[in-house]
Amino acid sequence: MNLILLGPPGAGKGTQAARMIEKYKIPQISTGDIFRKNIKEGTELGKKAQEYMNKGELVPDDLVIEIATTRLLEDDCKNGFLLDGFPRTVYQAEKLDEFLAKHGKKIDKVLDIAVEKEELMTRLIGRRVCRSCGATYHIVNMPPKKEGVCDSCGGELYQRADDNKETVENRIDVYNSQTKPLVDYYEKAGNIAHIDGAIGLENVFAHIVSVLGA
Ligand code: ADP
Ligand code: ADP
Ligand code: ZN
Repeated sequence: MNLILLGPPGAGKGTQAARMIEKYKIPQISTGDIFRKNIKEGTELGKKAQEYMNKGELVPDDLVIEIATTRLLEDDCKNGFLLDGFPRTVYQAEKLDEFLAKHGKKIDKVLDIAVEKEELMTRLIGRRVCRSCGATYHIVNMPPKKEGVCDSCGGELYQRADDNKETVENRIDVYNSQTKPLVDYYEKAGNIAHIDGAIGLENVFAHIVSVLGA
């Protein structure tokens, strides 16, 4: 199964991806995670990406396409993959389609998760992430058992540099202007499913499973 998770920042893409990869045994490919890993390791790619990410702007298309397609060539993507946060522009989507066609593949389903702006703000500002394993929490909606500590690995929880009010507002604007046109793009392709993301995460997951089939 070749899948895309689409939706604004804070819609719950990462949260659902964590459940989906367990159930469907496919790898999650998060371009944001790849960039953050590179920033942490101080690579050239990380340095380039960081200036855009800190402002809540999109990293330039060519850079993103290069890292995403390189990742898709890895062995674990043979039997399917779950793209989380890529593509984010129509140009990226077109390049992805070209790349997949060249390899005899296609996107099977795009899951478009919708949540309104006020809720997105609350989710993103309260988001905490594990420094060691990347698990995601929310200070109110999904608090860890012990404050500041990851339930699954004991790692330290931190707040992403771009999860502050100003940057979050910009990211939502950027989503609306640059990423939302993808809904039309995939609507035309006829492989998009719309998911209400404003309900409890188990219910969101159940809806996704019902769309994809057990
Ligand atoms: P995205 O990957 O789309 O940016 P995340 O999965 O990181 O979003 O979720 C953003 C924040 O919202 C996290 O703090 C997460 O714990 C919380 N969250 C995710 N799904 C839900 C939900 N269905 N209801 C309430 N909070 C949620
Ligand atoms: P979220 O879904 O919570 O907004 P991500 O982790 O997916 O966050 O992305 C964080 C940042 O990484 C984005 O704001 C952007 O700067 C950069 N980024 C990630 N994926 C892409 C992409 N496909 N195109 C351009 N920039 C990207
Ligand atoms: Zn952890």
